[in-house]
Amino acid sequence: MTYTFKIEHTRIPKQKPATDQLGFGKIFTDHMFILDYTEGQGWHDGRIVPYQPILLDPSAMVFHYGQTVFEGMKAYITVNGEVSLFRPERNFARLNASNARLCIPTIDEELALEALKQLVKLDRDWIPTAENTSLYIRPFIIATEPYLGVSPSKKYQFIIIMSPVGSYYAEGINPVKILVEKQYVRAVAGGTGEAKTGGNYASSLKAQEVAAKEGYAQTLWLDGRENEYVEEVGSMNIFFKINGTVVTPALNGSILPGITRDSMLQVLRKHNIPVQERRISITEIIEAHKQGTLEESFGTGTAAVISPIGQLKFEGTEYVINNGEIGEVAQLLYDTLTGIQYGKLEDVYSWTV
Ligand code: PMP
Repeated sequence: MTYTFKIEHTRIPKQKPATDQLGFGKIFTDHMFILDYTEGQGWHDGRIVPYQPILLDPSAMVFHYGQTVFEGMKAYITVNGEVSLFRPERNFARLNASNARLCIPTIDEELALEALKQLVKLDRDWIPTAENTSLYIRPFIIATEPYLGVSPSKKYQFIIIMSPVGSYYAEGINPVKILVEKQYVRAVAGGTGEAKTGGNYASSLKAQEVAAKEGYAQTLWLDGRENEYVEEVGSMNIFFKINGTVVTPALNGSILPGITRDSMLQVLRKHNIPVQERRISITEIIEAHKQGTLEESFGTGTAAVISPIGQLKFEGTEYVINNGEIGEVAQLLYDTLTGIQYGKLEDVYSWTV
């Protein structure tokens, strides 16, 4: 199926940032994609327009009850000068899974991918080329019906915006200090934890603020029922290497199914490194540390690929992991994923588009 979208070109192209100005998510490209939804009509009027503010009624439902979903992915310039996307179809599949949870009508995943490709082609010159830089892509959907009743909106907009971003590790991969959070939870069984929806992030801010005040980079989230099982770290999935086996929490409904997580599991299995997806209690992690078998820990996600955990603080005690250095498995996974993303390694998994 071919999709054609109306394209309105910008008349005032913006100045592109220098590499040292990139940062994360503050600068946006010249164009964006918009698709409208109206009940009875479905999704319609897909178009590429100059990047610009959107006009919404103050009563638009998204402002009041948070009916919204989003995605995060990247485009890369490979070492051969090609533009590459990493498993983008998985992001649109996850967007639809989030839609289902938030009572938002599903989008046509093929149409979304085609729209993204056309948008990236148009703004191709915005993809930075310096080492480990990329174009961050933010597709999202908002409920736009002007109505204060608590019910699913009858109108939506699906929008894609893009932002050139710098290298996450400008000074080399840096293991971080993590605070295990006991008071606040990110998600509960039956809640919206496995959906990528704004409310999950709003409710995570408080614990993040507490962690930052104590000098910790992120929060390690425990489950919302027993306050005992490890779920995620910041907005990343979490892995541990215990006595030679790599373990990550099984997807239980309150964990976001990370695309990096899934990719890591495939790489580990291909390298015949023992892996387990199962429940992991914080007691087990602390016990393993005491026995000397907690060999590595790291978070995984699109932004950093891997964020090694150098230290955990739990109930007032600090536990240093792997001397605060990046471990062998984390390094292998980082090199493999970034190698494939930037076209330095053969993509034996057929992940790149
Ligand atoms: N967990 C949460 C809560 C996240 O926001 C993200 C980032 N999307 C992840 C995990 C990692 O997901 P991915 O690997 O798809 O970026």
